[in-house]
Amino acid sequence: MPVAPVSTFRETKVPRHIVCLTFDFDTQSGFIARGMTTPTQLSRGEFGLIGARRILALLKSSGIRATWFIPGFTIESHAGACEAVVQDGHEVAHHSWAHIPPAQQSREEEEADLVRANDAIARLTGRKARGYRSPSWDLSENTIDLLLAHGFLYDSSLMGADYWPYRARRGDQAELGKPYRFGEETALIEMPISWSLDDYPHFEFVRTKESILPGLMNTELVLENWISDFVYMKQIMKWGVITYTFHPFVIGRAGRMLLLEKLIKKLKAGGAIFTTLENAVAEYDKRAPFKQ
Ligand SMILES: [Zn+2]
Repeated sequence: MPVAPVSTFRETKVPRHIVCLTFDFDTQSGFIARGMTTPTQLSRGEFGLIGARRILALLKSSGIRATWFIPGFTIESHAGACEAVVQDGHEVAHHSWAHIPPAQQSREEEEADLVRANDAIARLTGRKARGYRSPSWDLSENTIDLLLAHGFLYDSSLMGADYWPYRARRGDQAELGKPYRFGEETALIEMPISWSLDDYPHFEFVRTKESILPGLMNTELVLENWISDFVYMKQIMKWGVITYTFHPFVIGRAGRMLLLEKLIKKLKAGGAIFTTLENAVAEYDKRAPFKQ
């Protein structure tokens, strides 16, 4: 029987299985960050504007509030589309300004980008972001410190667990030929993610000089995977959170919207409680307060 590591965690008597639907509203930013700036490549990101409208309509009719990670680039390029997200009551969280992974930036570059994007979010929503997700899920050794210094409550870029939030650490030591050493826990709450719960690798076809990402999977098969991950959470956890990651330019296309619709229906039928990451973070914080 699998066991979940919930040592300091206050358990619940009534089962509570939380689902966070998250949308990385990249539009063209990811393509520009990778130097893919021909008209056709850019138009792939542009399709995210159509996808976002479809997603917002589905979330509204399903009565679900979600978390949208919006790069500063998208806020400043497509203001109306971002205002629609805010108007529908969704959480807006931080996803960099220019969609460059922190692991590729100096500390100064990373901090400048962090501040610039947070200012854009404050102008859009009236408050700074509570949560952060790094472009391409690749934190630098400075990211956790910078997030704490800038008042963030949570990150959603690491893969150290699946169904339970945990405290992000700083100063882990990984050296070839030496045992691994964990660093110290920080107050920052990690809401873990996984490529298996992300639409991008399953569906997006990407061909570059170096590699091909085949994508274009059958939606029913991916639906089966995504439902199984929820079912397993119910099997091993009384209280747990599962976070799905979608991109409007990926999930917003045709039959994939039917997949999203079916996923929501099946999760609801299975007892899922839908909420934003910010709310799930607050709930976790109460159940497992940070001890310094
Ligand atoms: Zn992104």
